[in-house]
Amino acid sequence: MMNIPMVDLKTQYHNVKEEIDKAILDVVENTTFINGPAVKEFQTALETYMGVKHVINCANGTDALQIAMMALDLQPGDEVITTSFTFVATVEVIALLQLIPVLVDALPGTYNIDPVALEKAITPKTKAIVPVHLFGQCADMEAIMDIARRHNLRVIEDNCQAIGAYYTFSDGTRKQAGTMGDIGTTSFFPSKNLGCYGDGGAMFTNDDILAEKLRMISNHGMKVRYYHDSIGVNSRLDTIQAAVLKVKLPHLDTYIANRQRAAAYYDNAFGNHPKLTIPARDPKSTHVFHQYTMVLNGVDRADLQAKLQEKGISSMVYYPVPMHMQKAYADVRYQEGDFPVTEALSRAVMSLPMHTELTEEQLAYVVGGVLEVLS
Ligand SMILES: *Cc1c(COP(=O)(O)O)cnc(C)c1O
Repeated sequence: MMNIPMVDLKTQYHNVKEEIDKAILDVVENTTFINGPAVKEFQTALETYMGVKHVINCANGTDALQIAMMALDLQPGDEVITTSFTFVATVEVIALLQLIPVLVDALPGTYNIDPVALEKAITPKTKAIVPVHLFGQCADMEAIMDIARRHNLRVIEDNCQAIGAYYTFSDGTRKQAGTMGDIGTTSFFPSKNLGCYGDGGAMFTNDDILAEKLRMISNHGMKVRYYHDSIGVNSRLDTIQAAVLKVKLPHLDTYIANRQRAAAYYDNAFGNHPKLTIPARDPKSTHVFHQYTMVLNGVDRADLQAKLQEKGISSMVYYPVPMHMQKAYADVRYQEGDFPVTEALSRAVMSLPMHTELTEEQLAYVVGGVLEVLS
């Protein structure tokens, strides 16, 4: 029996071990733990990779979202629209800053925010939109940027799952995920597509003034040492994490290609299966497959997962409870039934092992296991 975990960070590490070990040891030897040279070097390398003017590193993806919202000068009571089908961090920081999270439904195929529902949710209090590029594919940014322009709203892209994805607008302009809105955010959590060996995150912007604000807020609201011009936070990328990321960034395109190859294998195996719906692709976006997430049709999900686990095949449910049905965010404004697509997805999605090191043999084993259980 094979054992196929959701992610395999160990094999990935062993493939670049020498470089990583040296990079980490350098930091330790030089004791440049905070703001060492690797931090700036990684920042510059990522700016080049993403084709964005400013990368501002921070401590994690949740902080990135919070700092981004702080930099836009949103006021308590302002409404921020996002999707109900996401990881909690997106909604959490909105609520934490005493802004009002306004949730909207997802699209059934791509699982990303529904732009029609988004526009309907706009009120005079709406100030910003946070599209999430869920599972590695860009939200409908053409529609979202158009809505933002017409209603004068700011856009923060939650790009924690889609670093390296490209979006092509209908005029032919091609931009990377995280560089289309006012600010993009990402996470370097170990299992993310560009992961470090602990926590890490970053913000992206082409706006010089916003960049300065983001940098200041993440450093205690300080430009000149011990002079604090605004309320800030302490959110840095450790030098050790930057050193790891600097080694891994040149491999990101290969990592993405490996994920896409695994996804194509799954597509090919499951594309015509009556009980499985493979993830839809928006022709405007590439998909970097942070997750390979299918919809199960008339399948007992828990039973399928248990039977796969017996075969050593991991699977996960991202995400089992929509934001509007979470205890912390269930609000008098929302009830079960409000976002039928999100609710149906929460009941029926299942993600298969997806990482940079999946071999053909492992993929064949996963596919064989799934087809056998469903037969
Ligand atoms: C991972 C993730 C975050 C949070 O990132 P952390 O680094 O864990 O704080 C936020 N949004 C989405 C969509 C994520 O996947």
